[in-house]
Amino acid sequence: MEHELTYADVLAARDLLTGHLPVTPMWSYPALDAVTGATVHVKHENVQPVGAFKVRGGLTLLAAMAPAQRARGLMTYSTGNHALSLAYACAVFGAPCSVVMPATASAEKVRAVRALGATAVLHGADMASAQERAEQLAAEGGRHLVSPGDTPALLAGVGTTYLEVLEARPDLDAVVVPVGSGTGAAAACLVAAQLAPACRVIAVQSSAAPAAHDSWRGGACVRRPNRTAVDGLATGRGFTLPQQLMRAGLADFRLVSDAEIFAAQRLLASHAHTLAEGAGAAALAAVLADRDGFAGQRVAVVCTGGNASAAEIAALGGPAGRALVTSSSCG
Ligand SMILES: *Cc1c(COP(=O)(O)O)cnc(C)c1O
Repeated sequence: MEHELTYADVLAARDLLTGHLPVTPMWSYPALDAVTGATVHVKHENVQPVGAFKVRGGLTLLAAMAPAQRARGLMTYSTGNHALSLAYACAVFGAPCSVVMPATASAEKVRAVRALGATAVLHGADMASAQERAEQLAAEGGRHLVSPGDTPALLAGVGTTYLEVLEARPDLDAVVVPVGSGTGAAAACLVAAQLAPACRVIAVQSSAAPAAHDSWRGGACVRRPNRTAVDGLATGRGFTLPQQLMRAGLADFRLVSDAEIFAAQRLLASHAHTLAEGAGAAALAAVLADRDGFAGQRVAVVCTGGNASAAEIAALGGPAGRALVTSSSCG
Protein backbone atom coordinates (compact mmCIF):
# COMPACT_ATOMS: atom_id res chain seq x y z
CA MET A 1 0.00 0.00 0.00
CA GLU A 2 1.32 3.42 -0.83
CA HIS A 3 1.29 6.31 1.58
CA GLU A 4 2.40 9.92 1.43
CA LEU A 5 4.71 9.10 4.29
CA THR A 6 7.22 6.34 4.98
CA TYR A 7 9.53 5.19 7.75
CA ALA A 8 12.41 6.88 5.91
CA ASP A 9 10.66 10.24 6.42
CA VAL A 10 10.65 9.67 10.18
CA LEU A 11 14.39 8.89 10.12
CA ALA A 12 14.98 12.06 8.09
CA ALA A 13 12.96 14.04 10.64
CA ARG A 14 15.22 12.78 13.41
CA ASP A 15 18.21 14.19 11.51
CA LEU A 16 16.43 17.53 11.09
CA LEU A 17 15.62 17.64 14.82
CA THR A 18 19.16 16.91 15.99
CA GLY A 19 20.43 19.97 17.75
CA HIS A 20 16.91 21.26 18.42
CA LEU A 21 15.49 18.67 20.85
CA PRO A 22 17.12 16.11 23.13
CA VAL A 23 15.68 12.60 23.56
CA THR A 24 12.91 12.75 26.18
CA PRO A 25 13.02 10.46 29.21
CA MET A 26 10.90 7.32 29.61
CA TRP A 27 10.49 6.08 33.18
CA SER A 28 8.59 3.42 35.09
CA TYR A 29 7.10 4.04 38.51
CA PRO A 30 6.67 0.99 40.80
CA ALA A 31 3.71 2.62 42.55
CA LEU A 32 2.00 3.11 39.20
CA ASP A 33 2.76 -0.47 38.16
CA ALA A 34 1.18 -1.66 41.41
CA VAL A 35 -2.06 0.17 40.59
CA THR A 36 -2.21 -0.90 36.94
CA GLY A 37 -0.94 -4.48 37.26
CA ALA A 38 1.28 -3.88 34.21
CA THR A 39 4.83 -2.64 33.66
CA VAL A 40 4.08 0.88 32.50
CA HIS A 41 6.70 3.01 30.77
CA VAL A 42 5.75 6.68 30.79
CA LYS A 43 7.20 8.52 27.79
CA HIS A 44 7.64 12.08 29.01
CA GLU A 45 6.68 14.39 26.18
CA ASN A 46 5.37 16.77 28.83
CA VAL A 47 8.98 17.96 29.29
CA GLN A 48 9.31 19.24 25.70
CA PRO A 49 10.00 22.97 25.30
CA VAL A 50 6.33 23.87 24.63
CA GLY A 51 5.08 21.15 26.97
CA ALA A 52 3.90 18.72 24.28
CA PHE A 53 5.15 16.21 21.69
CA LYS A 54 3.82 18.32 18.81
CA VAL A 55 6.92 20.53 18.85
CA ARG A 56 8.70 17.68 17.06
CA GLY A 57 6.33 18.13 14.13
CA GLY A 58 6.48 21.92 14.04
CA LEU A 59 10.27 21.99 14.00
CA THR A 60 10.42 19.29 11.32
CA LEU A 61 8.02 21.24 9.11
CA LEU A 62 9.93 24.53 9.44
CA ALA A 63 13.34 22.91 9.06
CA ALA A 64 12.28 21.36 5.76
CA MET A 65 10.70 24.55 4.31
CA ALA A 66 12.47 26.75 1.79
CA PRO A 67 13.48 30.17 3.21
CA ALA A 68 11.23 32.01 0.74
CA GLN A 69 8.27 29.92 1.84
CA ARG A 70 9.03 30.62 5.53
CA ALA A 71 9.23 34.34 4.80
CA ARG A 72 5.62 34.33 3.50
CA GLY A 73 4.53 33.36 6.98
CA LEU A 74 2.42 30.50 8.30
CA MET A 75 -1.21 30.26 9.32
CA THR A 76 -2.93 27.48 11.22
CA TYR A 77 -5.81 26.62 13.57
CA SER A 78 -5.59 24.87 16.92
CA THR A 79 -6.99 24.52 20.40
CA GLY A 80 -3.51 25.00 21.81
CA ASN A 81 -0.57 22.64 21.54
CA HIS A 82 -0.34 22.62 17.74
CA ALA A 83 -0.41 26.42 17.95
CA LEU A 84 2.41 26.38 20.50
CA SER A 85 4.42 23.97 18.41
CA LEU A 86 4.15 26.05 15.26
CA ALA A 87 4.75 29.31 17.14
CA TYR A 88 7.88 27.84 18.71
CA ALA A 89 9.21 26.51 15.42
CA CYS A 90 8.46 29.79 13.60
CA ALA A 91 10.31 31.69 16.33
CA VAL A 92 13.33 29.39 15.94
CA PHE A 93 13.36 29.84 12.15
CA GLY A 94 12.32 33.51 12.09
CA ALA A 95 9.03 32.98 10.26
CA PRO A 96 5.87 35.02 10.91
CA CYS A 97 3.16 32.87 12.55
CA SER A 98 -0.58 33.35 13.04
CA VAL A 99 -2.97 30.96 14.71
CA VAL A 100 -6.75 30.99 14.86
CA MET A 101 -7.87 29.48 18.16
CA PRO A 102 -11.47 28.85 19.24
CA ALA A 103 -12.66 31.54 21.67
CA THR A 104 -12.93 28.76 24.25
CA ALA A 105 -9.17 27.96 24.07
CA SER A 106 -7.32 27.79 27.39
CA ALA A 107 -6.14 31.25 28.48
CA GLU A 108 -2.77 29.78 29.43
CA LYS A 109 -2.23 28.38 25.93
CA VAL A 110 -3.29 31.65 24.26
CA ARG A 111 -0.87 33.56 26.49
CA ALA A 112 1.94 31.10 25.72
CA VAL A 113 1.34 31.38 21.93
CA ARG A 114 1.56 35.18 22.15
CA ALA A 115 4.66 35.00 24.35
CA LEU A 116 6.37 33.08 21.51
CA GLY A 117 5.76 36.06 19.24
CA ALA A 118 2.89 34.59 17.22
CA THR A 119 -0.41 36.30 16.48
CA ALA A 120 -3.34 34.52 18.15
CA VAL A 121 -6.76 35.25 16.67
CA LEU A 122 -9.66 34.04 18.82
CA HIS A 123 -12.60 33.05 16.67
CA GLY A 124 -15.72 30.90 16.98
CA ALA A 125 -16.80 28.21 19.37
CA ASP A 126 -14.95 25.23 17.92
CA MET A 127 -12.21 23.96 15.62
CA ALA A 128 -14.48 23.92 12.58
CA SER A 129 -15.07 27.66 12.70
CA ALA A 130 -11.44 28.34 13.62
CA GLN A 131 -10.40 26.37 10.54
CA GLU A 132 -12.76 28.32 8.30
CA ARG A 133 -11.39 31.64 9.55
CA ALA A 134 -7.78 30.47 9.19
CA GLU A 135 -8.41 29.43 5.56
CA GLN A 136 -9.89 32.85 4.85
CA LEU A 137 -7.03 34.75 6.53
CA ALA A 138 -4.37 32.61 4.84
CA ALA A 139 -5.88 33.29 1.41
CA GLU A 140 -6.11 37.04 2.09
CA GLY A 141 -2.58 37.35 3.48
CA GLY A 142 -0.82 34.95 1.10
CA ARG A 143 0.26 32.79 3.99
CA HIS A 144 1.08 29.09 3.99
CA LEU A 145 -1.85 27.26 5.63
CA VAL A 146 -0.85 24.31 7.80
CA SER A 147 -3.39 21.53 8.44
CA PRO A 148 -2.78 20.12 11.92
CA GLY A 149 -3.74 16.62 10.75
CA ASP A 150 -2.93 16.24 7.06
CA THR A 151 0.60 17.67 6.85
CA PRO A 152 3.13 14.84 6.23
CA ALA A 153 6.08 16.71 7.84
CA LEU A 154 4.15 16.96 11.12
CA LEU A 155 3.59 13.19 11.17
CA ALA A 156 7.23 12.51 10.31
CA GLY A 157 8.34 14.77 13.15
CA VAL A 158 6.08 13.35 15.84
CA GLY A 159 7.06 9.87 14.64
CA THR A 160 10.50 10.43 16.17
CA THR A 161 8.84 9.93 19.57
CA TYR A 162 8.28 6.29 18.60
CA LEU A 163 11.83 5.81 17.33
CA GLU A 164 12.91 6.73 20.86
CA VAL A 165 10.30 4.55 22.57
CA LEU A 166 10.86 1.44 20.47
CA GLU A 167 14.64 1.69 20.22
CA ALA A 168 14.75 1.85 24.02
CA ARG A 169 12.16 -0.93 24.47
CA PRO A 170 11.84 -3.15 21.38
CA ASP A 171 10.22 -5.77 23.65
CA LEU A 172 7.08 -3.76 24.42
CA ASP A 173 3.75 -5.57 24.16
CA ALA A 174 1.87 -2.36 23.43
CA VAL A 175 2.21 1.37 23.06
CA VAL A 176 -0.88 3.42 23.87
CA VAL A 177 -1.29 6.76 22.11
CA PRO A 178 -3.85 9.53 22.78
CA VAL A 179 -5.55 10.72 19.59
CA GLY A 180 -7.05 13.98 18.42
CA SER A 181 -6.36 14.18 14.70
CA GLY A 182 -4.28 11.01 14.85
CA THR A 183 -0.83 12.25 13.73
CA GLY A 184 0.92 10.66 16.71
CA ALA A 185 -0.83 7.30 16.50
CA ALA A 186 -0.40 7.15 12.72
CA ALA A 187 3.32 7.79 12.99
CA ALA A 188 3.56 5.22 15.78
CA CYS A 189 2.09 2.63 13.39
CA LEU A 190 4.77 3.38 10.77
CA VAL A 191 7.61 3.10 13.26
CA ALA A 192 6.30 0.03 15.08
CA ALA A 193 5.84 -1.86 11.81
CA GLN A 194 9.55 -1.36 11.17
CA LEU A 195 11.12 -1.64 14.63
CA ALA A 196 8.77 -3.80 16.69
CA PRO A 197 6.14 -5.59 14.60
CA ALA A 198 4.97 -7.53 17.69
CA CYS A 199 4.19 -4.34 19.59
CA ARG A 200 0.51 -3.41 19.31
CA VAL A 201 -0.22 0.26 18.71
CA ILE A 202 -3.42 1.16 20.53
CA ALA A 203 -5.11 4.52 20.06
CA VAL A 204 -7.36 6.18 22.62
CA GLN A 205 -9.79 9.06 22.37
CA SER A 206 -12.36 10.66 24.62
CA SER A 207 -15.84 9.17 24.24
CA ALA A 208 -17.05 12.79 24.30
CA ALA A 209 -15.25 13.51 20.98
CA PRO A 210 -15.03 10.19 19.08
CA ALA A 211 -14.55 11.42 15.47
CA ALA A 212 -11.18 9.72 14.90
CA HIS A 213 -12.35 6.53 16.62
CA ASP A 214 -15.55 6.35 14.61
CA SER A 215 -13.66 7.18 11.39
CA TRP A 216 -11.25 4.31 12.04
CA ARG A 217 -13.99 1.82 12.94
CA GLY A 218 -16.11 2.76 9.94
CA GLY A 219 -13.26 3.04 7.45
CA ALA A 220 -14.20 6.57 6.31
CA CYS A 221 -13.61 10.04 7.77
CA VAL A 222 -16.67 11.24 9.67
CA ARG A 223 -17.67 14.25 11.77
CA ARG A 224 -18.82 13.79 15.33
CA PRO A 225 -19.94 16.10 18.15
CA ASN A 226 -16.96 17.44 20.07
CA ARG A 227 -17.95 17.70 23.71
CA THR A 228 -14.78 16.76 25.54
CA ALA A 229 -13.22 19.09 28.10
CA VAL A 230 -9.82 17.59 27.19
CA ASP A 231 -8.57 20.18 24.71
CA GLY A 232 -5.68 18.14 23.25
CA LEU A 233 -8.23 15.56 22.08
CA ALA A 234 -10.92 18.00 21.00
CA THR A 235 -11.55 17.50 17.32
CA GLY A 236 -14.79 17.08 15.43
CA ARG A 237 -13.64 15.17 12.36
CA GLY A 238 -11.35 12.46 11.07
CA PHE A 239 -8.23 13.50 9.09
CA THR A 240 -7.42 11.63 5.87
CA LEU A 241 -3.67 11.02 6.15
CA PRO A 242 -3.57 9.79 9.77
CA GLN A 243 -6.67 7.64 9.18
CA GLN A 244 -5.05 6.01 6.16
CA LEU A 245 -1.98 5.04 8.21
CA MET A 246 -3.98 4.00 11.27
CA ARG A 247 -6.17 1.78 9.11
CA ALA A 248 -3.08 -0.16 8.08
CA GLY A 249 -1.31 -0.30 11.41
CA LEU A 250 -3.49 0.17 14.46
CA ALA A 251 -4.23 -2.92 16.60
CA ASP A 252 -7.14 -1.30 18.42
CA PHE A 253 -8.83 2.01 19.17
CA ARG A 254 -10.33 2.56 22.63
CA LEU A 255 -12.63 5.19 24.07
CA VAL A 256 -12.42 6.47 27.65
CA SER A 257 -14.63 9.01 29.40
CA ASP A 258 -13.44 12.46 30.44
CA ALA A 259 -13.89 11.29 34.06
CA GLU A 260 -11.55 8.33 33.47
CA ILE A 261 -9.01 10.69 31.89
CA PHE A 262 -9.21 12.97 34.90
CA ALA A 263 -8.65 10.03 37.27
CA ALA A 264 -5.55 9.02 35.28
CA GLN A 265 -4.31 12.61 35.32
CA ARG A 266 -4.58 12.59 39.08
CA LEU A 267 -2.81 9.22 39.29
CA LEU A 268 0.11 10.54 37.23
CA ALA A 269 0.41 13.41 39.69
CA SER A 270 0.25 11.23 42.80
CA HIS A 271 2.09 8.09 41.62
CA ALA A 272 4.51 9.41 38.99
CA HIS A 273 5.09 12.98 40.22
CA THR A 274 4.09 14.12 36.75
CA LEU A 275 1.90 17.02 35.77
CA ALA A 276 -0.02 15.92 32.68
CA GLU A 277 -2.77 17.80 30.91
CA GLY A 278 -5.88 15.67 30.31
CA ALA A 279 -4.75 14.51 26.88
CA GLY A 280 -1.40 13.51 28.35
CA ALA A 281 -3.15 11.15 30.76
CA ALA A 282 -5.52 9.52 28.26
CA ALA A 283 -3.15 6.64 27.43
CA LEU A 284 -2.89 5.72 31.10
CA ALA A 285 -6.67 5.98 31.36
CA ALA A 286 -6.98 3.35 28.62
CA VAL A 287 -4.68 1.01 30.55
CA LEU A 288 -6.65 1.56 33.77
CA ALA A 289 -9.90 0.89 31.91
CA ASP A 290 -8.64 -2.53 30.79
CA ARG A 291 -6.55 -3.82 33.71
CA ASP A 292 -7.29 -7.45 32.80
CA GLY A 293 -6.25 -6.98 29.20
CA PHE A 294 -2.95 -5.32 30.09
CA ALA A 295 -2.16 -7.44 33.18
CA GLY A 296 1.50 -8.44 33.27
CA GLN A 297 2.28 -6.70 29.98
CA ARG A 298 5.00 -4.18 29.12
CA VAL A 299 3.16 -1.08 28.00
CA ALA A 300 4.36 2.37 26.99
CA VAL A 301 1.91 5.19 27.68
CA VAL A 302 2.76 8.43 25.97
CA CYS A 303 2.34 11.40 28.27
CA THR A 304 1.83 13.65 25.27
CA GLY A 305 1.59 16.97 27.09
CA GLY A 306 1.80 18.78 30.39
CA ASN A 307 -0.02 22.03 29.67
CA ALA A 308 -2.71 21.71 32.34
CA SER A 309 -4.69 24.90 32.93
CA ALA A 310 -4.77 26.54 36.35
CA ALA A 311 -8.32 25.22 36.78
CA GLU A 312 -7.23 21.67 35.95
CA ILE A 313 -4.36 21.86 38.42
CA ALA A 314 -6.67 23.14 41.15
CA ALA A 315 -9.16 20.34 40.42
CA LEU A 316 -6.45 17.67 40.77
CA GLY A 317 -6.36 18.28 44.50
CA GLY A 318 -10.12 18.61 44.89
CA PRO A 319 -12.73 16.20 46.20
CA ALA A 320 -13.90 15.20 42.70
CA GLY A 321 -10.37 14.02 41.95
CA ARG A 322 -10.21 11.99 45.15
CA ALA A 323 -13.56 10.36 44.51
CA LEU A 324 -12.63 9.41 40.95
CA VAL A 325 -9.29 7.90 41.79
CA THR A 326 -10.70 5.97 44.72
CA SER A 327 -13.41 4.36 42.67
CA SER A 328 -10.99 3.66 39.83
CA SER A 329 -8.33 2.01 42.00
CA CYS A 330 -10.93 -0.23 43.66
CA GLY A 331 -12.51 -1.20 40.35
C1 LIG B 1 -2.50 17.15 19.94
C2 LIG B 1 -2.40 16.35 21.17
C3 LIG B 1 -2.81 15.02 21.21
C4 LIG B 1 -3.41 14.33 20.02
O1 LIG B 1 -2.47 14.22 19.00
P1 LIG B 1 -2.91 14.01 17.49
O2 LIG B 1 -1.64 13.86 16.77
O3 LIG B 1 -3.69 15.23 17.09
O4 LIG B 1 -3.76 12.81 17.45
C5 LIG B 1 -2.65 14.33 22.38
N1 LIG B 1 -2.14 14.91 23.47
C6 LIG B 1 -1.73 16.19 23.48
C7 LIG B 1 -1.17 16.76 24.73
C8 LIG B 1 -1.85 16.96 22.32
O5 LIG B 1 -1.45 18.23 22.33
